[in-house]
Amino acid sequence: MPKVTINGKEIEVPAGTNLIEAARAAGVEVPHYCYHPGLSIAGQCRLCMVDIDKVPRPQIACNTQVADGMVVETETPRVKDTRRSMMEFHLINHPLDCPVCDQAGECWLQIYYMKHGLYDPRMTDEKVHKPKAVPLGPHVMLDAERCILCSRCVRFCDEITGTGELGIFQRGDHSEIGLFPGTALENLYSGNVIDICPVGALTDRDFRFQVRVWYLDTTRSLCNGCARGCNVEIHTNRERMHHNQGKRVARSSRATTPRSTSGGSATWAATASGGSTTTVG
Ligand code: SF4
Repeated sequence: MPKVTINGKEIEVPAGTNLIEAARAAGVEVPHYCYHPGLSIAGQCRLCMVDIDKVPRPQIACNTQVADGMVVETETPRVKDTRRSMMEFHLINHPLDCPVCDQAGECWLQIYYMKHGLYDPRMTDEKVHKPKAVPLGPHVMLDAERCILCSRCVRFCDEITGTGELGIFQRGDHSEIGLFPGTALENLYSGNVIDICPVGALTDRDFRFQVRVWYLDTTRSLCNGCARGCNVEIHTNRERMHHNQGKRVARSSRATTPRSTSGGSATWAATASGGSTTTVG
């Protein structure tokens, strides 16, 4: 197996491993939006740039495979500068309506801005406005202004469900996700595109599958809603449990939905009063 040194730590990983996964094995996080281990490589977001010894410019980690003796640095000033520039580029037309955004608190734009962005915005022109709350199918709604065109949802429909309803249309800063004529996003796994969208541009039309994970504990479990037995995560509000146990007056408990982590569609779970959590279908 090839040996690679990442931020000074030498590890061995199987041949063919890309640098995001190799860095993960070394305990190093390389930020990314478009890369997903279950999908093909698009190299679209350009956020996963790393410095590789003897290579003159930073390279994208998602599309670079390890080679024996490779020396990789993920935190050089040049890499940090590149990431900051890419964050500025991703957010240039973003509405920045975080205080009223239902994804706030679990948005990878916010997380990466705080970790890798922190630039002073230079955009003085009017932002490009795109359609909001566009129904794509019976379950899924698109907020085109929030979308960063990572193409995960497009690749999911092309490669996982094989239905290919979605595409990126128009050019430049007018590009947006859309449906091919005569189609709707109504395949059996359409709800899963909500889970893989890194910035919450895709949401459930009823906001039923929206995951609220602030201050919640997560337990991996199996859904008992049908015989398929999908992997799910159950989110429990520990603070609420303590309130109940102390017999203090607490606000009504908050229902949450687990992320589906296997092929099945997401299921609905509720935080039951008294602290236990039940999956209800
Ligand atoms: Fe990516 Fe979400 Fe935009 Fe689809 S809607 S391209 S998953 S950001």
